[in-house]
Amino acid sequence: MTETTESPVLNEWLQDVRKASGRLDLDYIAHAYRFSEQAHRQQQRKSGEVYLTHPMAVALELASLRLDTTTVAAGLLHDILEDTEVTEEQLTEEFGPAVTFLVESVTKISGLEFQSREEAQAENFRKMLISTARDLRVILIKLADRLHNMRTLEHLNRRRSERIAQETMDIYVPLAHRFGINRIKTELEDLAFAVLIPDAYGKLTSTLESDKRKKMKALGGVRKSIQREFKEAGIRAEISWRLKSYYSIWNKMQRRDVELDEVYDIMALRILTGENAECYHALGIVHSLFVPITERFKDFIAR
Ligand code: MN
Repeated sequence: MTETTESPVLNEWLQDVRKASGRLDLDYIAHAYRFSEQAHRQQQRKSGEVYLTHPMAVALELASLRLDTTTVAAGLLHDILEDTEVTEEQLTEEFGPAVTFLVESVTKISGLEFQSREEAQAENFRKMLISTARDLRVILIKLADRLHNMRTLEHLNRRRSERIAQETMDIYVPLAHRFGINRIKTELEDLAFAVLIPDAYGKLTSTLESDKRKKMKALGGVRKSIQREFKEAGIRAEISWRLKSYYSIWNKMQRRDVELDEVYDIMALRILTGENAECYHALGIVHSLFVPITERFKDFIAR
């Protein structure tokens, strides 16, 4: 950072941005920050916080998705055309056509109203968003925007937060899923779940949290013994965790009409190996350690 910045808030935030992604032009981003701060200075969020906290969170999320400088800057400026006096001409003069295009497109798709909950309608609406956006980065800014709004939903009244949560479930969760951004998909889904079906959410989370530690410990043991055997057999594999979202657990319970203790994939290990043959070799070792449940076993390698 060559530019001297007098604001400790900006400096601290820039540190976070740098930690999230190492290849951004921080001077340019600091410029967008100051511009946004100035433009939004009269505004507050419903929580009473200064408005800038919102674009800051959105831009940081975009940085952690490893997006480019233009997109992160657009994240800082994404509400400017809608909520302030700043015009497209001023934005172009200051940041050029690329940033302006992104901000303009986000404003445009934010103005599209989703009316019906019907599935075909939702699908049409998603298509409309994608075609209106023209550039994938626009959708990603919108997803980051929605994520922060969902995280801060408690400051809105019940009716409004329900409407936003429903729209999130119908439109933005499937979009995040389609673009393969699982972390955002899961968080959006669980935040919406908590608002839409609070009783089920509360019951499920309290039950799961109470034995989560026990389960994690058990799974850690399983992982260790698999690693030991793999090493002996000379298999090189990457073993990672996967936690099912609260919503997908609940969804499965509804769909299959089963109880929580009949959902077997709340936590899972994912084993990545090189080739097919090695994959079967690894599977054989796992089966020699743990007896497979025949009726639940699926050969995803062959299929
Ligand atoms: Mn916004």
